[in-house]
Amino acid sequence: MPKEMLGPLNFPIHRFVLGEFEVTAILDGSVRLGISPPFLLNESDAEIDKIAKCANLSSEKLENNFVPVVINTGHKLILVDTGFGSLGRKMGAGFLKERLMQAGYQPTDIDIILLTHAHPDHIGGLYEDGELSFPNAQIMMGHREFYGWQSGERIPEQRAENRDLFLKFLSPLEDQIRFLNDGDEVVNGVTAEAAYGHTVGHMMYRIRSDNHELLIWGDVANHYVFSVEHPNSLVGFDDVKDEAVTTRNKVLNGAADSGVLVLGHHMPFPSLGHVQRIGDSFKWVPATYQLRVQ
Ligand SMILES: [Zn+2]
Repeated sequence: MPKEMLGPLNFPIHRFVLGEFEVTAILDGSVRLGISPPFLLNESDAEIDKIAKCANLSSEKLENNFVPVVINTGHKLILVDTGFGSLGRKMGAGFLKERLMQAGYQPTDIDIILLTHAHPDHIGGLYEDGELSFPNAQIMMGHREFYGWQSGERIPEQRAENRDLFLKFLSPLEDQIRFLNDGDEVVNGVTAEAAYGHTVGHMMYRIRSDNHELLIWGDVANHYVFSVEHPNSLVGFDDVKDEAVTTRNKVLNGAADSGVLVLGHHMPFPSLGHVQRIGDSFKWVPATYQLRVQ
């Protein structure tokens, strides 16, 4: 009997155990983008074609997804980044809040919001209809990130609208935010690390529990092929491009050397994987069943 087409179906919530902690990756949504810009800005069209073909990707379009993370330490419920919120809803993103509830958490359950940086896909979900979306959460973010946006120095012209969003969303909360510096402990088992370049004060977070480790690298690398395999390539989304290249190489080298599990905000959902060194480049190796057989 003919059956109607139901359309693509992807489950947007993924939870796994990390030592004593539980970690839930939640897909805030996905959008379609061209490839260059934003990626591979210093490559020719022919080279981009070759790179895309090699990875079985389209050389014209990519899917960019947005993946906030919930960490339950047993003592605190921490949300890393807030998705697009209402800013993204027309584009196919901004669904964190409803999916958080599907994952078993209420917005009022969140104790801490950890921001990697202040781009709209990471702070847009802080508010819904003018009210804080996670009213009981203490916001924490990089000291350098906050005061970079606040001062406006080194904020590129293309981010003028983003700066207005920062001034509207985060500036009024200055007195309530806990500011983090490189090496600061957020709570027991969660450490902030400087990873500047994508933005002026971008931070990443290292989670450790019972000999297990997870690196939440935010936007250090924003595409699993175009950034991870071509870390020196300039990226339109990076606000301080040279510094972003240096940081990307440093973090990729560290991840390849240590074999740490990585959760990357824009890696293909559920955005978990490892970095493998291939010659003088790297490869994103998606996690499969490793986390279920520990
Ligand atoms: Zn981002």
